[in-house]
Amino acid sequence: MPLTVKGPQKRSTRALRTLLIGLLPVLLGMIILYLQAERALLQSSQQTAEEAIRQFDLMLDNSDIAARVLLPLVGEPCDETRQLALRDQVTRRPFVRSTNLVWRNDNYCSSLLGRFSAALDPRDYVDGRLWLMNGNPITPDTALLIYRLSQGERSALATIDGYHLTNALRLISRYADLKLQVGNSWLSADGKVHGLPVPSAPVAHQELDSARYPYRVSAGFPEGDVWLYMKAQYPPLFSLLLFFGILSGFAGHWWQKRSSSPSHELQRALGAAEFIPYFQPVVRGDTEQWAGLEVLMRWKHPKEGLVRPDLFIPFAEHSGLIVPMTRSLMQQTAQLLAPNASSFSDNFHIGINITASHCHDLQLLDDCRDFLAQFPAGKVVLVLELTERELVEPTAMTHKLFEELHKLGVMIAIDDFGTGHSSLAYLRQFNVDYLKIDQSFVAMIGIDALSRHILDSVIELSAKLDLGIVAEGVETLEQRDYLAGKGVDFLQGYLFGRPMAGDEFLTELARH
Ligand code: C2E
Ligand code: CA
Ligand code: CA
Repeated sequence: MPLTVKGPQKRSTRALRTLLIGLLPVLLGMIILYLQAERALLQSSQQTAEEAIRQFDLMLDNSDIAARVLLPLVGEPCDETRQLALRDQVTRRPFVRSTNLVWRNDNYCSSLLGRFSAALDPRDYVDGRLWLMNGNPITPDTALLIYRLSQGERSALATIDGYHLTNALRLISRYADLKLQVGNSWLSADGKVHGLPVPSAPVAHQELDSARYPYRVSAGFPEGDVWLYMKAQYPPLFSLLLFFGILSGFAGHWWQKRSSSPSHELQRALGAAEFIPYFQPVVRGDTEQWAGLEVLMRWKHPKEGLVRPDLFIPFAEHSGLIVPMTRSLMQQTAQLLAPNASSFSDNFHIGINITASHCHDLQLLDDCRDFLAQFPAGKVVLVLELTERELVEPTAMTHKLFEELHKLGVMIAIDDFGTGHSSLAYLRQFNVDYLKIDQSFVAMIGIDALSRHILDSVIELSAKLDLGIVAEGVETLEQRDYLAGKGVDFLQGYLFGRPMAGDEFLTELARH
């Protein structure tokens, strides 16, 4: 139906909207999964950092034990016995690679070199305790972590091999990027010692200080790891999201179709009371006195203005809405006309168009009863017009309906007569009261001999069957004269009056 309040919705707009509705749950789901993945990675780097602290503390604990054992030896000569004691700690303590004795900042005895002399600067040590070095003359370019335990002028050193440190950095987390920072130096998992600043990881960066030794570790993940994590962990959830996306896309498509469907639009218009009655006078063939009217539906559309019935009645019939629409039309007609019934001639005919959908049950009977009850008894005759192009099946229900309608005094007219195939038997079966000759035959008066011949036969037939006859579409004096001459009971057409709104019709009626 070309008529919608919103205007016709383009196919591409609808498709785009369907796409967006389908994408919405997928996007929302992806955002939630992304945040969830970020949280999982943050937790993972927190755990990694904690584990690293445990490992490095353990290494330093071993260094501390070695240094504690050696500290009482400081100041004694670096002889065979002391050197043995130094080497003993190296072999006994895991992770410890070498040990030294330092007296008054003179590093004078080593497990590796025996007696020697090198100056020690306590400022190299963070808190005087830890120094992360990038190798020494014996093993250049190999990280070393020196632990210093001092007491007055004495200090003992225990050195942890960089190999253990980098190994720990690599093994504790297979995926996270882990770094060990001691003062102004930091060690990466590739075994290299760097100066400040420590670069922070782009994803889930975490830093943790040891509670017992002056160092910290930082953990995090490289750029893009959230997506990698999602790809590894969430494939079943992706499928679920896709499923919901498709589902909501379908739902959106259905909803749009529904809200722009003709029946939805008609339903809206019915609720908004946009269907109103127009009235066209029906006059007597002999005197041209206004003897009745036909109620014609109009749609007072908020955008399109007044819409002709043939543009929407077929949709109303198809959707079954024609029944409540006709009911509303009858109620409005009674409300408008009943207060003015005194100005009607007696037996004023009021024609209402009905369709086959009205004949499926007996509801129409109540509608007609309610309609007639609003007029003074015997003042009006209700005529139901049923088009010949879609006549109803003769079933038990339709027989009962038509019988009851007749008992109520309601009359039946076959509309557009001559355009369909109703048989004589049919006319008798339904006890029809009027035939309305289709306007196409009237239009041919004086033009086409065959049509005039059909017209004459219909008029004769109706006389034989004792049926009233109404000629529609009378527009010229010639047509009027011809029909009146043939004794046609009632005439309807622009010559006598166009379909009019209620007030206008009543004013015109008063003039006649
Ligand atoms: P219809 O029942 O045959 O109604 C007569 C149609 O002819 C009306 O058109 C009327 O305006 C038009 N008409 C009357 N006199 C003349 C004339 O002298 N010349 C010409 N050219 N036309 C004339 P309308 O109002 O547009 O209605 C068209 C059709 O829509 C109706 O044909 C009827 O089948 C249907 N319709 C109208 N109202 C209703 C309704 O309330 N219910 C149902 N079911 N159908 C309706
Ligand atoms: Ca009609
Ligand atoms: Ca007609």
